[in-house]
Amino acid sequence: MDLILRNARLGDGRSVDIGIARGKIAALEPGLAADAEELGVGGRLVSPGFVETHLHLDKACILDRCGAHHGDVGAAIREVTRLKAAFTPEDVYARAKRTLERCILNGTTHVRTHLEVDPGIGLRGLEGVLPLVREYAWAVDLEICIFPQEGLLNRPGTEELMVAALKRGGHLIGACPYTDTNPHGQIDRIFTLARQLDLDIDMHLDFDLEPGAMDLTHVCRRADEFRYGGRVAAGHVTRLSMLAPDAHAATAARLANAGVALTVLPSTDLYLARPVGRPDTARGIAPAHRFLAGGVTCSLATNNVLNPFTPFGDGSLVRMANLYANVCQLGPADFAASFDMITSHAAALMNVKGYGIAVGNDADLVVLDCGTPAAAVAELAPVLHAFKRGRRTVTRQPPVLHAP
Ligand SMILES: [Zn+2]
Repeated sequence: MDLILRNARLGDGRSVDIGIARGKIAALEPGLAADAEELGVGGRLVSPGFVETHLHLDKACILDRCGAHHGDVGAAIREVTRLKAAFTPEDVYARAKRTLERCILNGTTHVRTHLEVDPGIGLRGLEGVLPLVREYAWAVDLEICIFPQEGLLNRPGTEELMVAALKRGGHLIGACPYTDTNPHGQIDRIFTLARQLDLDIDMHLDFDLEPGAMDLTHVCRRADEFRYGGRVAAGHVTRLSMLAPDAHAATAARLANAGVALTVLPSTDLYLARPVGRPDTARGIAPAHRFLAGGVTCSLATNNVLNPFTPFGDGSLVRMANLYANVCQLGPADFAASFDMITSHAAALMNVKGYGIAVGNDADLVVLDCGTPAAAVAELAPVLHAFKRGRRTVTRQPPVLHAP
């Protein structure tokens, strides 16, 4: 063994020592007899590292450049379009690096970042973010989803740039159908490109509070036709929050059967989705826990940090899980499900291999200052340590009260 975490509490309640060798979990048992460096964690929860499925590193931390007006999603896109003209690779790199480090300090070990290309920004965003994949491989697996934030069919030149970005290091393909006048046309084109290039798909979808037909239905249809089940995720889908509760089960079954996963972005969805003439309870958050119960792979993720889409952010997925549980009025019995949506379900959405606390898996671990996943969600438990492939990457000293 290279390292033993002593007296760890697992999410299922087991108390064990975790033996780590060559970057893998090599043993899980109480009173593990082996000679290695030791770290006592005092009965605290040891969880797999957090998995951020949806984060925009390229446009993070620009709040100080934005005008005073903040409005809906269209206003946010227009403001970033204006600011993007001045983005340089160096500027993107510096902001993305700062944001990624915050994520790492908050226990995240896997990140999918959505990165926009269009004739305005060209490949400068990619040039800023791409170096971070290697530079931070010691702490995080970073994958890049290339997508057309300003439209695909409406914006000539964008598709060529997307293909170029994918050849230069992009890992998967995204979409933003509501930015084209023909949303289904964009969805179809993205599926075709994904199949040609053998890429997973992660789309921004149905990002408003109009009741009625959803592009999600079309995505499920295409996922069936292209046999793409398990390789498609949809983010936001705030229209799901407008569904009558008795429609949840059938819609969940449709997604589960098509193998289309759902990502909810609580902070952005709350901030941007503006219910007009509707009760305050309609806050634009898709009820992911009901879809989870219906067999859908669901994750909660950050989306944006300090920009017109989301003028909040610290890269903490525990905070997202807490925010989701609070806004969606989850009972304590469901807090663990909220935690699953930043860990195991998020990893399933990203098809992460070797994830989770089991012998043979990567030793990507976080130590939280609490005893259970439910407590992590309820108490916003801080991350005290993080490990990537067995190497410690983060230490946070617990705060100390200095009583007189
Ligand atoms: Zn997004």
